[in-house]
Amino acid sequence: MTYIAVDIGATNIRVATGDSDGLHVKSIEQTDTRNGAGGVSKQIIRLIEDLTDEKPESIGIGSIGPIDLETGEITNTPNYPFNYIPISQPLEEYFGIKTRLVNDCAAAVLGEQRFGAGKGYSSIVYVTISTGLGGGAIVDNHLLMGKDGNAPEIGHITINSDSDIKCGCGSYGHWEAYASGKNIPRYAMKLIKSSWRKSLIADLIGGDLELLTSKTIYDAAKQGDEVALGVVAEIGRINAVGFANITNVFDPELITVGGSITLNNPRLVLDPIRDNIDKHLINRKPEIMVTPLGEDAVLIGALALAMKA
Ligand SMILES: [Zn+2]
Repeated sequence: MTYIAVDIGATNIRVATGDSDGLHVKSIEQTDTRNGAGGVSKQIIRLIEDLTDEKPESIGIGSIGPIDLETGEITNTPNYPFNYIPISQPLEEYFGIKTRLVNDCAAAVLGEQRFGAGKGYSSIVYVTISTGLGGGAIVDNHLLMGKDGNAPEIGHITINSDSDIKCGCGSYGHWEAYASGKNIPRYAMKLIKSSWRKSLIADLIGGDLELLTSKTIYDAAKQGDEVALGVVAEIGRINAVGFANITNVFDPELITVGGSITLNNPRLVLDPIRDNIDKHLINRKPEIMVTPLGEDAVLIGALALAMKA
């Protein structure tokens, strides 16, 4: 039996075949937005047909949000220029097989339980720290979805109610506004003001602040730069608050962490969380580790979803 896994990201679509042994053949392509909202599902169909001649058993999809579970659409995503992108229905009609769509982190936590570090656990949270910051949760073996399929939006937990730091969603003081890959440089500048000029950061960006990225800051920290290490420690303190909130709300046995910022800087991301989480906890501390699924977490999760369909 072959299953199809699809990961719809902010810029790319990844498709794979797989079964109970895991993923087999994979392909990746930039999402084609030239043919209207309907072109996205056509592109997925073509990618699937390029991968396999066999009729698959079912299709699982993990997608950037927001999604609408009921209609199987992506709705009003800031990443693409369409209000509604129909996904499940066109695929189901074309292939005549069951197709399930969930948000990317919901998929990833399913993948973690079936194929990753979450085997044998019944309460697991998956956190991604990447361009954005998000999470998926399984509580008592139940995948949390919410009314539209967008639970839990952990990146938009308020970390500081008195903040002047604006989130991409328009609100203030959200976790993502401080600690996602896209927002770390802005917060870093607020913290270090002009002291970056005397740090390794200045060398790495050739003195041009326009070139400052999260990667620059973590790279400088890895080389022992004090200014960058200060930023990393402060981001870590904020992440510890976020991880404590997750623990206090969901009481998981395990939190796995993925996303490019984590995967490229596992110790710099996780150590300050482990060092600072205790003082914010009421629930017993869970195990916290980098996901063994790496960059494939959502795709493997989509496979796990297809196998449940
Ligand atoms: Zn927000």
